[in-house]
Amino acid sequence: MKKIPLLLAGILALLFLESFDPDRQLQTRHSETAPDWGFFAHRRINRLAALTLPPEMMVFFKPNIDWISDHATDPDMRRYATPWEGPRHYIDLDEYGAPPFEQLPRSFLPALMQHTEILAVLERGDTVVVYGGDHPPAENPELPWERFFSKHILPNFSSGDGSLNVDSLQVFLKSGSREIPAVQSVFFQENLSKHGILPWHLQRIQGWLTNAFRQRDSKRILRYCADIGHYVGDAHVPLHTTSNYNGQKTGQVGIHGFWESRIPELFADEEYDYFVGKPEYLPQTAEYFWDVVLASHSMVDSVLGIERAMRLHFPEDRQMCPDMRNGRVIIAPCRDFAAAYQEAMQGMVERRLRAAIHGVASIWYTAWIDAGQPDLSKLDLPLSTEEELREEEAIRQKFNAGKILGRPEGE
Ligand SMILES: [Zn+2]
Repeated sequence: MKKIPLLLAGILALLFLESFDPDRQLQTRHSETAPDWGFFAHRRINRLAALTLPPEMMVFFKPNIDWISDHATDPDMRRYATPWEGPRHYIDLDEYGAPPFEQLPRSFLPALMQHTEILAVLERGDTVVVYGGDHPPAENPELPWERFFSKHILPNFSSGDGSLNVDSLQVFLKSGSREIPAVQSVFFQENLSKHGILPWHLQRIQGWLTNAFRQRDSKRILRYCADIGHYVGDAHVPLHTTSNYNGQKTGQVGIHGFWESRIPELFADEEYDYFVGKPEYLPQTAEYFWDVVLASHSMVDSVLGIERAMRLHFPEDRQMCPDMRNGRVIIAPCRDFAAAYQEAMQGMVERRLRAAIHGVASIWYTAWIDAGQPDLSKLDLPLSTEEELREEEAIRQKFNAGKILGRPEGE
């Protein structure tokens, strides 16, 4: 038997729906910035996704459902602890031309190679691009870019300052019949992550999760399930696929939090239908991740355009209202205004939330199937070690200090 009956899933969902209570972590933050989808929606997505799983998976997920739900927000917290985290949450597709962005490699390594360049500091003092960017790849089969990249660049990617050995570069460039003048130093620079790596990062975690299932490593299964649930959620948010992520380019600052935090917090419990059916096996997960971000991107114009039109036509004094958040008064979009925006978008927020829940469950399910449907009934329930608890606490402290590394997302 592969599915949990819909009615039962519905009853369970009702049992697990908490009435909205601002998250504990939010109470300790000192700014109004709302992390993506809001903590509220991310937790809800992971929890509801778990409730749709087949019994063979439920046997493990049910006892861990609080953990998976609570830790749905860890990736957002890590944005305060490491600069590598931020780009995993978005992709600015508009930086790559027009849909369907055929020039953009769908796999990570080719994309990284396409968007890495080599620069040289010349003895005369200026810095020039010697490879990449507008420079076509070297044609010499003796030392193609791919091989140079894997040998000299990839191993140093996340460590060090990106400096390269001048001699090895000379060999590479000579091999492409190009030489550079006398140089002081050379280094590489990747330009991919500044526009976000969300769909590629999803592919990586999918691999890690599948392996964790294969090895029946309960701790890593939970960790990657919680993480991938977060990123699949982000991928369903239109504003996570554009460089105008907070309406800052169109005079609509604050729209990020309005769409993905304010609206779900106001209406998700009262009005949304969470019956998303059982998870589906996804034979091509990479393709699925790209389909999701491309679909999200196709909604960006509506998200922005409808809000802009509403701001013009809705009575101005009924657009922003004082509200209480964590014992403090904040100014946020009024309930009626939010309801009107939601209606004008024809329920887009609810549709994307539902699609995210179904997507997260399907991705977990697919990883489990691809791992050979391991028996999860005998897995140990993981306990955190002292060291892990200390690490978690350190991340929490950085998060509470409130200095995001990389670009902020909310208003
Ligand atoms: Zn995120």
